[in-house]
Amino acid sequence: MSGRVALITGGTRGIGLGIARRLAAEGWRLAINGRRPDDAVAPVVEELRASGTDVVYVRGDISLTAARPAIVDRTLVAFGRIDALVNNAGIASPGRLDFLDATEEAWDLVLDTNLKGPYFLTQAVARVMIRQSEVEPGSRCRIVTIGSINATVASVHRGDYCASKAGLGIVSRVFAVRLAEHGIDAFEIRPGLILTDMTAPVKETYDTLIADGLTLERRWGTPDDVGRAVAALLRGDLPYATGQVIVVDGGFTVDVL
Ligand code: NDP
Repeated sequence: MSGRVALITGGTRGIGLGIARRLAAEGWRLAINGRRPDDAVAPVVEELRASGTDVVYVRGDISLTAARPAIVDRTLVAFGRIDALVNNAGIASPGRLDFLDATEEAWDLVLDTNLKGPYFLTQAVARVMIRQSEVEPGSRCRIVTIGSINATVASVHRGDYCASKAGLGIVSRVFAVRLAEHGIDAFEIRPGLILTDMTAPVKETYDTLIADGLTLERRWGTPDDVGRAVAALLRGDLPYATGQVIVVDGGFTVDVL
């Protein structure tokens, strides 16, 4: 894997950091993205570098049109190429309001961050990958998009979030269809309940539900559970499977009679 470069949005904490740790351990050079200032993420960057790989922090808000080209350009300045994109950055629904109280402001923020951002960042990165494939015939690049079981599981307190994740489900397939001819695979990983800052506000509620059997595996998922799935995909361990969805939810969405 030596020398291959992965760009991970939201790679500074939570699931994204779980992914970054796994990829660093496998020798990927990493560009990790987030919104916070450089000094706030310096300890994370240092931790990843300590595992022996090259890491740069490419700060930028993926929901902003002007920020996305800069994220790509700074990755290219650092490494000169991009072999994998992990669309991980995302936000919860602000205030987790019931559908009857939901606001257009929250809808716009969630959709811009969780759907429009990854869609157009992928467009920009795909153009880079296509240029690479033209000078390196036979090379394979991969795009992994982190969706959610909320693509199909309805939650009345985050309809905007559900819509964004349902949208990601189809755009990941669009990536697969459009980019296959260029040797670029696209996958979606659909996590269930993963313990991170995003789910911290609802931890106690779900502690009880999980103990009562909400998931077949009676524990929270971890960022490393998702990191391992991403690493397997980027390693090429699921060949001939572009366009598919990998569900990492401890059995949450298994239909039971
Ligand atoms: P966290 O809130 O723990 O971390 C979010 C990460 O995304 C941070 O690194 C944050 O950067 C970054 N980020 C957020 N908004 C932006 C933005 N506009 N531009 C750039 N970076 C941004 O979330 P999780 O790790 O829990 O979630 C990661 C992904 O996994 C999300 O897409 C989420 O929807 C999805 N997911 C999570 C599940 C869970 O149970 N936790 C379940 C299913 C899917 P910064 O630190 O700078 O704010």
